[in-house]
Amino acid sequence: MVDVVVVGAGAAGIAAARMVLAAQRSVVVLEAMDRVGGRCFTDTSMPVPFDTGAQFFAQSQSLNTDMYPIANQFGVESFGAETVKRSFYDPDFPLIDADPSVFYASYAAINACLLEQGLEIANGGHDCPALQVLEKAGLADLPYRELVMQFLCTVVVGRPESEESALDLFNFAQFSPAPFLYPPRDSNYVPGGLGTYLATLADGLPIVLSAPVSCITHDGDGVTIHRAGGEPLRARAVVVTASTAAVHGIEFDPGLPPEYTQAFHDLPMGLAYKAMLGFHGCPFDGRLGTQAGTMNNVIPLVDGPTPAYSVNYFAEHYPDAGTHLVVTTEAAIAEQYEAMGPQAAARDILARLEDPFPGITGAWNGRVVASSWGMNPYTRGGMSSAKAGRAEARALLQTPVGGRLWFAGEALSARSHSLLNGAWATGIAAGAGAARASLRT
Ligand SMILES: Cc1cc2nc3c(=O)[nH]c(=O)nc-3n(C[C@H](O)[C@H](O)[C@H](O)COP(=O)(O)OP(=O)(O)OC[C@H]3O[C@@H](n4cnc5c(N)ncnc54)[C@H](O)[C@@H]3O)c2cc1C
Repeated sequence: MVDVVVVGAGAAGIAAARMVLAAQRSVVVLEAMDRVGGRCFTDTSMPVPFDTGAQFFAQSQSLNTDMYPIANQFGVESFGAETVKRSFYDPDFPLIDADPSVFYASYAAINACLLEQGLEIANGGHDCPALQVLEKAGLADLPYRELVMQFLCTVVVGRPESEESALDLFNFAQFSPAPFLYPPRDSNYVPGGLGTYLATLADGLPIVLSAPVSCITHDGDGVTIHRAGGEPLRARAVVVTASTAAVHGIEFDPGLPPEYTQAFHDLPMGLAYKAMLGFHGCPFDGRLGTQAGTMNNVIPLVDGPTPAYSVNYFAEHYPDAGTHLVVTTEAAIAEQYEAMGPQAAARDILARLEDPFPGITGAWNGRVVASSWGMNPYTRGGMSSAKAGRAEARALLQTPVGGRLWFAGEALSARSHSLLNGAWATGIAAGAGAARASLRT
């Protein structure tokens, strides 16, 4: 019998397994996919490493007290997001650098309102959707309101402003200035790939890949884990790190207490889409302030229902690799792009970018890699968000079931949900709890 089985080898699972081993207990990690990292994975099939999920250490100067300092110790190269140059364009005025001051004024007003009202809710006020907070404060008609909220809610948290809990957003946003937008203090990009770094933290762990867990039976004496293609494993405790949507692919026997099932439903998965495209030459150079040798974040100033997307332009760290763009889009368009497939989605992205970068379609070398977090059965989305009034579901899931069954993952973190460091911290806590439980016979 093994002491602890960990289900999932993403950030939370890797942290949990390391914690169990540090407590001198035995551990086996069962991972459904054929690789480690979960939603933090670096694709190396292009000349430039491409993080299909998590890309930067968030909250690096505030709450990221476990992962980021270890990375620094290991000498992992990273650079502050404040060094990334930002440009804006307005599709109504092609080829003219847009003046972002109106946009930033809206952003500042909305951010201040969400922080102020969020604090009030945190102190006992009534939670409601983020959009309602803005409506009550008379800010719903600010210019670029939808764009600001697309970045705050749907790119960062993955869900629309009409559904995302204002309290949940506050818990996150008070420490996490939207990294694509504001001169952010708290984020560090990792040019070698954040997923590559996370995978090094899994080195040496006893991980079984391509081992999807289908059923977990649990009682006062221990747990039995059933997986495809292998004998059932008996253990003293288990840590389950599947996302709040992927967890529905696992049967629990006896079934979970109703408040746990409810909590998973109250933390639905949002979505974001990322694609990396390669180009002949450097079709952007000089346009909208882009230059070879810089990393540039281009943001379209679009009012109304057009979805937000931002463009990261990579050159500085890979001078010999040609030009590459990473495009990140918000939830509504993310679903369409996943359904269309990478080639068709790339053509749509290029058509949109013809406006600021004429000729870009012709410069595309045909290569594209894209994320598919929504369609992946083992993630079923990008990041969790809380329904209005249900932000406390995150804390509820931190309590083990029957002293043998722990949950972990970004969704359980109140202040760092949707983030890698949130996943890591909950994995450490669950791993420590499960290791202690395994001492009981
Ligand atoms: C597009 C995008 C961009 C992001 N950008 C950032 C960023 O820049 N910075 C940041 O901090 N965060 C970012 N995030 C969030 C970050 O990637 C996640 O919060 C974090 O990786 C989640 O880790 P986790 O361990 O909780 O879950 P996961 O990474 O989902 O790990 C869970 C693991 O469990 C496995 N699993 C699921 N079901 C089963 C089963 N039945 N049997 C066995 N295994 C199973 C899965 O395959 C997976 O490997 C981003 C996310 C997305 C989608």
